[in-house]
Parts: sequence; C-alpha cells; structure tokens
Amino acid sequence: MTDRLPGFSTLAVHAGAQPDPTTGARVTPIYQTASYVFENVEHAASLFGLQAFGNIYTRITNPTNAVLEERIAALEGGTAALAVASGHAAQVLVLHAMMTPGDEVVASRKLYGGTINQFSHSFKNFGWNVVWADPDDIESFEKAVSPKTKAIFIESIANPGGVITDIAAVAQVAKRAGVPLVVDNTLATPYLCKPFEHGADIVVHSLTKFLGGHGNSLGGVIVDGGTFDWSRDKRYPMLCEPRPEYNGMVLHETFGNFAFAIACRVLGLRDLGPALSPFNAFMILTGIETLPLRMQRHCDNTQAVAEWLDARDEVAWVSYPGLPGDRYHNLAQKYVPKGAGAVFTFGLKGGYEAGVKLVSNVKLFSHLANIGDTRSLIIHPASTTHKQLTDAQKVAAGAGPDVVRLSIGIEDKNDIIADLEQAFAG
Ligand SMILES: *Cc1c(COP(=O)(O)O)cnc(C)c1O
Repeated sequence: MTDRLPGFSTLAVHAGAQPDPTTGARVTPIYQTASYVFENVEHAASLFGLQAFGNIYTRITNPTNAVLEERIAALEGGTAALAVASGHAAQVLVLHAMMTPGDEVVASRKLYGGTINQFSHSFKNFGWNVVWADPDDIESFEKAVSPKTKAIFIESIANPGGVITDIAAVAQVAKRAGVPLVVDNTLATPYLCKPFEHGADIVVHSLTKFLGGHGNSLGGVIVDGGTFDWSRDKRYPMLCEPRPEYNGMVLHETFGNFAFAIACRVLGLRDLGPALSPFNAFMILTGIETLPLRMQRHCDNTQAVAEWLDARDEVAWVSYPGLPGDRYHNLAQKYVPKGAGAVFTFGLKGGYEAGVKLVSNVKLFSHLANIGDTRSLIIHPASTTHKQLTDAQKVAAGAGPDVVRLSIGIEDKNDIIADLEQAFAG
C-alpha cells in the first residue's frame, strides 16, 4: 500500500464505507433503529458525557448516516460533517451554533427563494437579523458587516439565475471581519467546486438536489472545514463557553478542528431535532456513488441546451455562465471549470403567455418545483412559485413574467432539445 490519496470518483464510491463487520454486507446497510443497547452503566454514562464516541439514539447519531457524513466530508475536503433532514434544516443548525438574539448574518441577496424566505421571516422569531449584500459588489459585504455580525452566507452558484459568487473575495471580507464564511454549495456540488479551497469555513448542501440526484429523498448536510478559530474574542458562546449539560465541557477546547460539527450535532440536532431518516441516507449514498458521472453529463447537456436556446428566435436572453458572453463566464472558469451546473434561466420574447404555453406543451420535461433530478425539469416562476408577488417584486427576484427556469437532466441531449423545439412549435 502506498499512502497516495484516492481520487474524487474513488471517494464518491468508497469514502466512509466498509463491508459490514458482522454480516459481510458489501453495501452500507440501513440501520433502521431508533436506539442502541448500552454495554453497561459506565458505557452509557461515558456516551452521555461525550467522553466516548458511540450511538445513543438516532436523533443524534446513526451508523448509516455516519457513512454519508464521512463520505461528504471527504468529497468536500472538510474535517467532519453532520447529515440532517433537509437543506433548510442544515441552514438553521449552522446559524443556531453561531448566533444569539440580536446578532446579524450578512447574506447574499441572490439566494434560493426558500432561503430568502427562511432568513427574512422565520429567523426573525429567533431574534436573528439579516443584512443583505449584493454578490456582484464585494464592497457591499464589507459595508454590511457590523460588530454584531456572526457569519457571512453565500451560494457558490446561486439558484436560479446562474450567478457565480467570487468566493475567495467574500472569504477575504469574512477574514477581516473575524467571522466564518458559510457557502451553500448545492448547485455546484463538490464535483464542480470545493469552497474550502477558496477560503470558506463551513459548507452546507441540500442533499435533495444533485448529491442525492434522483429526486426521491430530502436531506441536508453541514460540513466543517476545521479552519475557523471559534475561541477568538469569546464571540461564539456555544463553542467557547462551558456547557452545563456536558459537565462544563468547552466544545472548541475538547474537539478542536471539528468542534463546529460536534456543536451542530450535540446542541442543535439534539435540541431542535431535524434528524435524517437512515432510509434517506441510504438513498443519498447510492446517488453519490455516481455523482461525478451524473454531474459531468448534467453540465454537458446543459451547455448544449443553453447554446441551442441562445440561437432561437423565441428567446430574448439566456443566463448561463457556460456561455462565452455571459457576465459570469470568467468567474465560472475560475470556480467551476468542469461546467457551470445544470440550472439556469432564460427569457421569452412572448412574455407571460409564452411561458405558460411552454410549460404546458413540454412532454419529456416535468413541470414541477425542484432541481437536481436525473429528469429534466421546467418551471415558469411567474405563474407558480412567485405568483403572489407584484410584477415589480417578480422582476427584482429574477422571476419576471418572461422568465423560465430549467434543471437539465441526464437524458440524451437531442431528446431534451427536441422536446423544447416541439413545445415552442405547439
Ligand atoms: C433546495 C435548496 C435548499 C433547501 O433544501 P431542502 O432540502 O429543500 O430543504 C437550499 N439551498 C439551495 C441552493 C437549494 O436549491
């Protein structure tokens, strides 16, 4: 054996998994159990006191979920990970470990719509305030930072408009502010972009999308980069102050460069409770085995579809960073050189009516509100997800009446294009 590091595709298949020691099962089993028998009273006490690693109850740890966590930590190049019930749950737990009432998070204005809702409305109930910044203007992040800022939050490729964020530049702002940079890497996946290599401290994902990849299971994950100093200036009490429920243990002192993942697990997941079902972890693990193959096909198909749309008379504009004229093309070459992902928007010259007609006429595409499936997906936000907004609000959210969003699947690209062609003609 040499100690050379395995490549990405090898990690996608193997990281974290071994044949089952008791049965020899080659595929990671679904440990569908709520709890685990203690060896004896001392063993139980050491588990509850965090003096020993082991399983107590599936809300906190589960062996199937543990393989998923180790695999994603390996793919992102982090120190540890925590799998949870959904992407939104991952976002809540990350900020729960950092924020106290009255604190602020600086967030990119261009985020997945569900995240904008979560940050603007639900987080208010926790006393967490959001200060928005413009991903196209790095200085706006600098200006948004205050002594109350506890984190900066961006997406690597922002959903849905194909916005590429200059991660390294925002990481510099975070460093100067002494706060961690959290990157939602859902649309890129670690196959296309590894935010830790560009200065991110924490990565989150919706596993529901490309990592699981088959549109069959909700899931989310938090990955700890192990880079941030949580004890500095005593700004992060969850990590740097003694925990009464763990005999006064200070998590950052005890767990070092994976203390953040531990805090999200033994405080956030334990108390807020959004545990991932082991069945979903199994489905997502199976999906991840083919991540590199699927992502490359997603990107190659998307490039072809975007180029085809760009040449069509019905189409006013295409927002895909893989196109040479796109405003994010240079950033795409730096951050996602293998491909600019599979989700993008385009505008129809025929406006609202043309959007409704297109989604009504497609046959291969599925008209639904999701992304990151093997199947090609289409949505016309103005008549669905953004229907309640005024026209001005729709335009500001990148969901004007003419906008259509596609998530390109892994079917034959000629069939995807033929479906759009017949839908335009129909
Ligand atoms: C879908 C999505 C989320 C939310 O994930 P869920 O698994 O649906 O909770 C967060 N961020 C991005 C970029 C997404 O696309």
